[in-house]
Amino acid sequence: MKFSDQRKIMIEEQLIARDIIDKNVLNAFSKIPREDFVADNIKYLAYSDTPLTIGENQTISQPYIVAKMMQLLEINRDCSILEIGTGSGYQTALLAEIAEEVFTVERIKILSSRAKRILDKLKYENIYFSVHDGSMGWIEEDLKFDRIIVSAGAPEIPISLLQQLRPGGIIIIPTGDNSQQQLHKVVEKDGDYIHTMHDICTFVPLVGKLGWKS
Ligand code: SAH
Repeated sequence: MKFSDQRKIMIEEQLIARDIIDKNVLNAFSKIPREDFVADNIKYLAYSDTPLTIGENQTISQPYIVAKMMQLLEINRDCSILEIGTGSGYQTALLAEIAEEVFTVERIKILSSRAKRILDKLKYENIYFSVHDGSMGWIEEDLKFDRIIVSAGAPEIPISLLQQLRPGGIIIIPTGDNSQQQLHKVVEKDGDYIHTMHDICTFVPLVGKLGWKS
């Protein structure tokens, strides 16, 4: 079956049939070729309902969990987004489809370079890449963000991320122990942080100063 048909079925069966209703999110998924972000020998699995290996002991997350995190993030065209854990760059592309700009941080240089190559080829001009420990947030310059999304599991929310959130901003991050986490949403409202917990999930660890020690 053609990848474009597999993509349609994935959106129907894995996203809409569950609880993904955000039109921006569904529209972004319909545009991005997930097969471009995985190695040739596993392209036939590109639309399966699972995470897939991307080398360096890391994974591209299951489509549903990416969609769920993006829906919880309530993204719109005006958002400036910080993404921690570029990985394959697949989620970066989805975010860049919806938001004004995406600042993406990866600690493993080879993954960042590969993601950049693919995203340049897809002609994105609103993505900024950096290789450093993203548990410290964005360190290239002093910036604040409307939305922050972390696609690696952390013991708790790094304080640096809370400090880089704009008023009214939202953070989504999986928190928990090494084997299992829960999607943790934080909304800044009038100087307070409102926390809610969502889906159970399993992510690779956020390795860094304010994450897990390597
Ligand atoms: N959303 C990604 C998933 C990547 S997996 C995708 O669609 O492919 C999580 C990524 O987080 C891995 O590439 C891992 O190297 C990275 N990571 C882990 N700890 C990090 C840290 N402290 N700073 C930046 N990236 C980190």
